[in-house]
Amino acid sequence: MDADFSAQPTIAAVATAGGVGAVALIRLSGPQAVAIADRVTGGKASAARPRTAIWCRILGVDGKTIDDGLLTVFKGPNSYTGEDSVEFSGHGGLLVTREVLARFLACGAASAGPGEFTQRAFLNGKLDLTQAEGVMDLISAQTSLALRAAREQMEGSIGRHTLAARDEILGVLAHVEAFIDFPDEDIDPQTGRALCDRLGGVSKGIDRLLATADQGRILREGVRTVIFGEPNVGKSSLLNRLLGHERAIVSETAGTTRDTIEETVNLGGIPLRLIDTAGVRVAGDLIEQEGIRRTVLQIDSADLLLEVVDASKPKASLPLLSWSDDTRHLRILNKSDLGRHPDWVTAVGLGLSCESGEGLSELEAAIMEVLHFGTSEWGEHAVAINARHQGCLERARRSLGAAIELLQPGRSDSELAAVDLREALDALGEVVGRIDTEDLLGVIFSSFCIGK
Ligand code: GDP
Repeated sequence: MDADFSAQPTIAAVATAGGVGAVALIRLSGPQAVAIADRVTGGKASAARPRTAIWCRILGVDGKTIDDGLLTVFKGPNSYTGEDSVEFSGHGGLLVTREVLARFLACGAASAGPGEFTQRAFLNGKLDLTQAEGVMDLISAQTSLALRAAREQMEGSIGRHTLAARDEILGVLAHVEAFIDFPDEDIDPQTGRALCDRLGGVSKGIDRLLATADQGRILREGVRTVIFGEPNVGKSSLLNRLLGHERAIVSETAGTTRDTIEETVNLGGIPLRLIDTAGVRVAGDLIEQEGIRRTVLQIDSADLLLEVVDASKPKASLPLLSWSDDTRHLRILNKSDLGRHPDWVTAVGLGLSCESGEGLSELEAAIMEVLHFGTSEWGEHAVAINARHQGCLERARRSLGAAIELLQPGRSDSELAAVDLREALDALGEVVGRIDTEDLLGVIFSSFCIGK
């Protein structure tokens, strides 16, 4: 047995979802992967050509067959983790899978923790941190757009933008440090201006990345979409139309949707978390007042407001509702099949009939537009940063701003500017994982599933 005491343990886990299926995949990664697989298969692994599937039996301690299936050996660094790895695809029964895994563990492998394979890929330089996070996003993506953004991220789009910014700052820092080394020389105004321009360009690039934070949050968490309006205007009918099936109770009696209902729909690739609220009107019993209070709270935390009115009836005076200027808001003039009351003829809004469905595709297009997913620019790049990237990039931008101030002609405080530039570099390094903060890695990889 060729023991390797210095290296990491070899880890094993079932990589496919728990449950009964046609096939289950068991993964092994680490310096002893091939040796352990040899013990379990009677020497098949070391005889196999790398990256070529071979048939083998998994043998129990008594030499009897537990399962048979396909075995593939990947020699590091040409593997997902960068280490020697082995994959066994066997029968997907719960017990058989458990027994095969138990055999690998009994022959020297350790149980893998959540995300440990991807963490090793990151630590071995196969992926940067944004790419590793992209793997997780890909697995949890619920719509086609979320999937595209995750794919882009996995392929390194955010990492490339971040590293380009980092390289540019490094270039400027080299200049600034040259002035620190020769304290008698002031940065001449022309050089100072040129350095500031370069940093200004980097700052704009960071702003472009930061501008995708909203889309990133929307794709990962969904858009909190609050449907509100007077009782009986068709709020529940709209929710049902968007859901494409009956979910909320539709009733002729005013004030029946007393609590809030939440459902998620996939609108053109965007996850919309639809929240139907109690009708808002001036008079009402106590329970309705509670419903109204909740509606006001929902409006406060909404990403998108869909205000529904019955445009076939006169305008009613709504209780005072307000929202911030940057909340996206669409007014829907419902019941267009019943004709439009003069009160609403000049009103701004989208005509819709929840009864016939007329106007629904226009409403969907308007929602895409108001969320900025309708643009071709989004379609081309599909970059969408997450909250962690946003935090780091904001820090980088602040430090850059401070450095630009300090390098202005007349000021040219190179020592302080260098400190700020180094802070900006650290913040950008953190985006891609060029840091040694174990806590951060723990937080990120613990959200993965075991076997990934
Ligand atoms: P909510 O109280 O605002 O949730 O309203 P509902 O969705 O319960 O609808 C109230 C009534 O209006 C129901 O009888 C619906 O069938 C009807 N309704 C909703 N939308 C339309 C529409 O576009 N046209 C017509 N004619 N009736 C509608």
